[in-house]
Amino acid sequence: MNIHEYQAKELLAKFDIAIPAGFAALSVEEAVAGAEKLPGPLYVVKAQIHAGGRGKGKFKELGADAKGGVRLAKSIDDVRADATEMLGNTLVTIQTGDAGKQVNRLYVTDGVDIANEYYLSMLVDRATGRIAMIISTEGGMDIETVAHDTPHLITTITIDPATGFTDADGKKAAAALNLSGDLAAECEKLTANLYKAFTSLDCEMLEINPLVESADGKLLVLDTKMSFDGNALFRHPELLPLRDETEEDPAEVEASKYDLAYIKLDGDIGCMVNGAGLAMATMDIIKLNGAFPANFLDVGGGATKEKVTAAFKLILSDPAVKGILVNIFGGIMRCDIIADGIVAAAKDVNLSVPLVVRLEGTNVEQGKEILANSGLPIVSANDLGDAAKKIVAEVKQAA
Ligand code: GDP
Ligand code: MG
Repeated sequence: MNIHEYQAKELLAKFDIAIPAGFAALSVEEAVAGAEKLPGPLYVVKAQIHAGGRGKGKFKELGADAKGGVRLAKSIDDVRADATEMLGNTLVTIQTGDAGKQVNRLYVTDGVDIANEYYLSMLVDRATGRIAMIISTEGGMDIETVAHDTPHLITTITIDPATGFTDADGKKAAAALNLSGDLAAECEKLTANLYKAFTSLDCEMLEINPLVESADGKLLVLDTKMSFDGNALFRHPELLPLRDETEEDPAEVEASKYDLAYIKLDGDIGCMVNGAGLAMATMDIIKLNGAFPANFLDVGGGATKEKVTAAFKLILSDPAVKGILVNIFGGIMRCDIIADGIVAAAKDVNLSVPLVVRLEGTNVEQGKEILANSGLPIVSANDLGDAAKKIVAEVKQAA
């Protein structure tokens, strides 16, 4: 789950991490009221969308010369003018895709006089199975370019879960940023607090770009992106209200209501499978047969009629879908019950595209009989390869 910059900063502040003062705003009036509470004379008006690259982004509705999604404002009137121009318009950045994202929230912050911009992020490194802190003196820029062209400017600190973040780790971080004296001490405290925040909130990723050294010699978190491990969210009921569903794919939001793992893809063959591994194998074999999957969908272990119906509706809500492949292994779940669910769901949604079903496992013969006697044009398949061949052929034929 991703959250907005202002929400992430409010969370970090609770861990004694220094952030510039700021106020979230849903309207021009709120933006102005927020700015009036700040000392000035420099303000920053920031679009709150779940995507980075806002500073260099462009608004679709505004001319090519218009300013981007992070604007320095030198007066309250400028804040008003910027907020008016940004709210409701669509910001396109390197991370949003061409469609862009509508800006519905702003964050008005105290403008910082910047001496240096640094990069710092934390993530769970799959290779080591540990939390890694990635640090660079080259903040504020495109970090991928730095990683590619000048990898020696990036330092990775791998943190031992048995000891947690140590003083030595903090010293390494300060050294990586060439800091000394008070700033080094501040960096050691900051990185230790970031580790505390990361682990106690069950973060998946925390990126601070830029982390700045201000002209008056302080380290401040100027921009941050935070995401949480979805599998650990049950431990954090306090984080759930931070979710902003308007930032997410509507089909994926709908899927999460039924506890379905759904990810939309670019192809035209919808897939409904139980088990993530089988779902991946199903997508692979569709590609092997020369077609492309329209989605990843794992209905999970307990594929009830309600779940199967919701899954069909989701798959069919994608206009690109030209056929559906259902691949269910009935282990604990019996194939006859699954077949009943598929037939009921197919009738319920008035299925209009070819449907190939491969069932295997407990009571598979009864299951196949239910499909055959349903009166619906369901094509039965014997194994995974057969199923993929059949759905690809059906879709070709229908085209
Ligand atoms: P992003 O483009 O989505 O990553 O948004 P950021 O919050 O990182 O802002 C982009 C850039 O705007 C930063 O790298 C800074 O150079 C600049 N910026 C943001 N806030 C301030 C500020 O308070 N003072 C100054 N001088 N520049 C800022
Ligand atoms: Mg940034």
